[in-house]
Amino acid sequence: MKNQNATRYSKQRECILRVLGETDTHPTASYIYHRVREEIPNVSLGTVYRNLAKLTEEGAVIKIFSDDTSERYDACTSPHCHVLCRRCGSVSDVFIDCSDALDKEAEKVYDGKISGHSITFWGLCEKCSRDDG
Ligand SMILES: [Zn+2]
Ligand SMILES: [Zn+2]
Repeated sequence: MKNQNATRYSKQRECILRVLGETDTHPTASYIYHRVREEIPNVSLGTVYRNLAKLTEEGAVIKIFSDDTSERYDACTSPHCHVLCRRCGSVSDVFIDCSDALDKEAEKVYDGKISGHSITFWGLCEKCSRDDG
C-alpha cells in the first residue's frame, strides 16, 4: 500500500513538473490541473494543489503572486524577476539577478532571517505596448 501511494505521488509530481517545464507562461494551478488531467484522468484539483505546495516547499518550483488573486507557478528556479502585463495579465521573465544584495539589505533592518524574495514589475508586455501605438 505504502509503495503504491509513493508511485502514484511521484507520477503526479513528475507530470506537474513536465507541464510546468514545457511552458514559460507561468500558469495557474487550474491550467496545470487541466493539462495533468489529460494524462492522469482521475487526478483531483486538490491533489494538484498539494503537489504544487510540496514542490514549492522543496524549491523545485516557484510560486508567483500577481496582483489578482490567482497564484502562478514557475519551473525556472534560477534567480530572475517577473513583469506582469497590466493589460493582458501575461507574466514574463526578466533575468536580472539582485538576489544576494537585496536579501542582505532586508536582513539589515529585519530581526529575523530572510531566505529569498520575489520581485514583480508591472507594465505592458511587448505585444500590448506594440498595440498601444
Ligand atoms: Zn500584454
Ligand atoms: Zn519566471
